Amino acid sequence: MNQRIYFDNAATTSLDAEVLAAMMPYLTEKFGNPSSIYSYGRETRMAIETARKSVAKILNAHPSEIFFTSGGTESSNTAINAAVRDLGCKHIITSPIEHHATLHTVENLQRSGEARLSFVKLLPDGHIDLADLEQLLRGSAEKSLVTLMHANNEIGNILDMDAVGALCRKYNAVFHSDTVQTVGHFPFDLKNTPVDFITGSAHKFHGPKGTGILYINENIKIKPFVHGGGQERNMRAGTENIYGIVGFAKALELATANHLADREKIGGLKKYMAVALEKNIPGVSFNGDVNGKSLYTVLSASFPASERSEMLLFNLDIHNICASGGSACTSGADAGSHVIRALKNKAEQVTVRFSFSKYNTEKEVDEVVETLKELV
Ligand code: PLP
Repeated sequence: MNQRIYFDNAATTSLDAEVLAAMMPYLTEKFGNPSSIYSYGRETRMAIETARKSVAKILNAHPSEIFFTSGGTESSNTAINAAVRDLGCKHIITSPIEHHATLHTVENLQRSGEARLSFVKLLPDGHIDLADLEQLLRGSAEKSLVTLMHANNEIGNILDMDAVGALCRKYNAVFHSDTVQTVGHFPFDLKNTPVDFITGSAHKFHGPKGTGILYINENIKIKPFVHGGGQERNMRAGTENIYGIVGFAKALELATANHLADREKIGGLKKYMAVALEKNIPGVSFNGDVNGKSLYTVLSASFPASERSEMLLFNLDIHNICASGGSACTSGADAGSHVIRALKNKAEQVTVRFSFSKYNTEKEVDEVVETLKELV
């Protein structure tokens, strides 16, 4: 059996050894409760606040705007529910290609009658139609929440956050962006970005799973989202996930320090694979704005459907290659991808998302393309 090739880094990444080393003391000897008043507890409190300061500095935010959570899902749920319940947004504008952490949350608010829901139109390349967004905002009698993701996890398209934020400010709307695929992969300057809430998740950039952030702009005042003790400035009660928080900050520090080199390497692999696929696989096409405003980690490819290619993901797995499905197909138990369905209404293609990290190589790309030549 070949060595495993892991091309599913948009799903999750491996934990960096340096991140684990930074977390280790808090999994072993430094176990004091950060709420305790003795020095043993103060030491862990200090670790949390140092992590918060570091994250805030990297994102150019104030430490009081950073809340540690259990990940991207909790952060988006919190922001969206708070915008409706605490900030008076009775109209939600989103897109059909958001992550389920957003879509299922807004659908729940619609079902409960707490908010009306509108879907903004998409352009043929999968980008948000900003003219349609403005029309929806202008025509809304209620205060709106706009929730649009920064980079799409399936096709990699990147949203112009400044343009969307400017429209939101113009129409007095709240703006939440799911930035789970970009925090750790993209330089943020939150003091100069017109956004109210963003989210981050450590396991997308070689940090631990189950740990994330919610950024809440200092001008936004929401109610506590988990009730109990006074942790996270009375907003999210519960004894903190200290090692997760330390791991989040360390992973973000490493990602930021090496951003340019990693970006160049990973973006190079994406291009290399796109060219190799075009050269070797007849009928291959790419989804989203692959050569334009697109995240350098994600390549979504569609292959012509055939008896062989129907089994593509299964066969890739047999060859020890990890990649994600993204087929529009709705047959069988797999409901297919809502993102690909929203972009293409025909199912006669098989879509696979390849997503890369700094640990991937051109040799691995060559091997995967060779295997695909047999499987498609
Ligand atoms: N949003 C996007 C775009 C994602 O890719 C993911 C992860 O799959 C999430 C949200 C959910 O993040 P988490 O796994 O930290 O809950």
